Amino acid sequence: MPRPATTIVDELGIALANLGDAATGAFTPTLRLGVTGLSRAGKTIFITALVHNLLTGGRLPGFAPLAEGRFIGAKLAEYPDATIPRFAYEQHMEALTGADPVWPESTRRISQLRLVLKFQSGKFLSGLRGVSTLNLDIVDYPGEWLLDLPLLGLSFAQWSAEALERADRPGSGDEAGPFLDALAAIDPLRDASDADAERLAAAFTDYLRRSREHGALSTLPPGRFLLPGDLEGSPALTFAPLPPQRQAVRGTSLYAMLEARYEAYKDRIVRPFFRDHFARLDRQVVLVDTLRALNAGPAAVADLETALTAVLACFRQGETNPLLRPFVRRIDRILFAATKADHLHHTSHDRLETILNRLVANAARKARFAGAETRSLALAGIRATSEGTIREADETLPTIIGTPMRGESLDGVTYDGKTEIALFPGDLPEKPDSLFVDGEKVELNFLRFTPPRSLERNANGDVVLPHIRFDRALDYLIGDWLA
Ligand code: GDP
Repeated sequence: MPRPATTIVDELGIALANLGDAATGAFTPTLRLGVTGLSRAGKTIFITALVHNLLTGGRLPGFAPLAEGRFIGAKLAEYPDATIPRFAYEQHMEALTGADPVWPESTRRISQLRLVLKFQSGKFLSGLRGVSTLNLDIVDYPGEWLLDLPLLGLSFAQWSAEALERADRPGSGDEAGPFLDALAAIDPLRDASDADAERLAAAFTDYLRRSREHGALSTLPPGRFLLPGDLEGSPALTFAPLPPQRQAVRGTSLYAMLEARYEAYKDRIVRPFFRDHFARLDRQVVLVDTLRALNAGPAAVADLETALTAVLACFRQGETNPLLRPFVRRIDRILFAATKADHLHHTSHDRLETILNRLVANAARKARFAGAETRSLALAGIRATSEGTIREADETLPTIIGTPMRGESLDGVTYDGKTEIALFPGDLPEKPDSLFVDGEKVELNFLRFTPPRSLERNANGDVVLPHIRFDRALDYLIGDWLA
């Protein structure tokens, strides 16, 4: 039977941590917002945009507290847990708004940031209630680590069977070949040696890296193999899946050694990460780079769906132990966001949302069953393109206008990072089922664009970051806490 994702001891730890929060935040409520998504989904950009928009009162007509004139302001505050790195907001803004704007470095480890928000509650006559305060804690974590959560429910033998079945699948040959050869050359029942463990782990990591380069996502766990954070070179990362053994496994064998390391990885790395971060979230945004998967083809789309379903099955979503329920928080709202919607003309955004809905349908159904509300939205945290039209023969085509990043190429043209172009991005299918059932490939003209240049400034001299539907995302995620 799979083990539950948290043990009873973990549950107590979570309850105590929440009580601690309640004690320190006796006068100021705290909303913990998790920002997750697979690597390069757009977490760094989403959080940078979120912080900047709140700090400067950005252009957010769909964010009710601001539109209704009740949002007073925000400021950055010291995060209460000094052991967790701070989200590098200032550096990211510098990269985005320098003389030659570049996209900031993506999420590589966990980080957090606290914003203190001041607002006028709309619930009471303003004079009666005065100004209210909310701490907004934003928790950012690498997509790769998210994929580890399903491991908590799998024994070494179960995980090995799944991982080897994937590596053996037709089509995985090129990527998995050297690892499968290394595995075939080793007898897992012989005496354990670090050299064997390291060789296998290196070949396995190499296979994971190559499959990621080819767009696969669900083949990624264990996540720290590709993104070790502070664990680079640690023995906790020196294991690999092994085939089932018919004979009894001796305690001194390689099999026993790798099994113990796998269990240690789960207990010392994955479980604490889940207990200390996931289990304490109130709201969750799951960012999905839908367009990249569509562009990579049907296998990547299927793979993204598998990965998202696996990841989301691990959220608590209200299924808590009834005895502990008063102390344990639960995620009551999840926003699924298709990021980088500025790669498409706005006339395609509805279709992008429909595809996202289909992609997360399984996960969202589970979440709703467990009592969480969900919504899907196509958005851009920072919009890098504008829109136009081009006439071709007697057709008018909707285009996006932007500067492709240096080295990007399409139809034999390689761009220099300076030239602005108008691009017809292509059409998304009206019925998303064709992408999933028939595995149809969408023909998209997909280029990465440089961040927007010559940004506008507001009356206070602050840069205004252009976005797409970011205000609606914000309203859904935090608006009711500022009601
Ligand atoms: P993560 O932190 O790994 O999830 O990903 P990032 O936030 O660093 O995003 C990865 C890359 O996607 C960035 O470097 C940008 O090139 C691109 N990107 C992210 N968000 C947007 C967006 O809203 N618009 C556009 N055009 N590109 C984006």
